[in-house]
Amino acid sequence: MNTTENQKIKSNKQYHPQMHSAEHILNQTMLRMFNCGRSFSNHIEKKKSKCDYHFERNLTQKEIEEIELKVNEVIRLDLIVAEEFYSKQEAEIKFNLAKLPDDAGDRIRIIRIGNYDACPCSGLHVSHTNEIGIFKIVSTDFNEGVLRVRFKLIER
Ligand SMILES: [Zn+2]
Repeated sequence: MNTTENQKIKSNKQYHPQMHSAEHILNQTMLRMFNCGRSFSNHIEKKKSKCDYHFERNLTQKEIEEIELKVNEVIRLDLIVAEEFYSKQEAEIKFNLAKLPDDAGDRIRIIRIGNYDACPCSGLHVSHTNEIGIFKIVSTDFNEGVLRVRFKLIER
C-alpha cells in the first residue's frame, strides 16, 4: 500500500469515530466467540462498513443475533474509550502488533475500551461506547476462507 492510500484510509477512519469504535468491539466479540482473530481487512464508512475474517463457513442467523446482542451489550455499558501509549518493546509483549505498519515509530498508541478490548490504532474514536448507537449486521457472506460481515449503526 502506498502512502497516499494509507493516508486516505486513515482519514476515512478518523471521519467516523462511531463506526471506527464499533469495529473494535466487533473484532473483540468475533475473537471471543470464534477465536478467529481480528478482521484482517476492513472498510469503514459512515453509512455501512465491512470487516473480513479468516473463517471456515458463513455465520448462522443465531450467531449473527448473538454477535449483535453482545456488541450492543458492550455499547450500552457506556465503557470509557481511552488512549494509552507504550514503547514498541512494551507493546509487542502486551498486544498483537501484526497489523501495525513498520513505520509506526517507537510510541505505540493503544485504544482501550473499558476492560473489553485493547488494540493498537491511530484513528479517532468516541469517548464513551454509548455514543456509538445501535449496532446492526446488514449481511454476511462467505467465500474462499473469508467471512465478510457488513454492519451499520442506528442513531438512538
Ligand atoms: Zn480504531
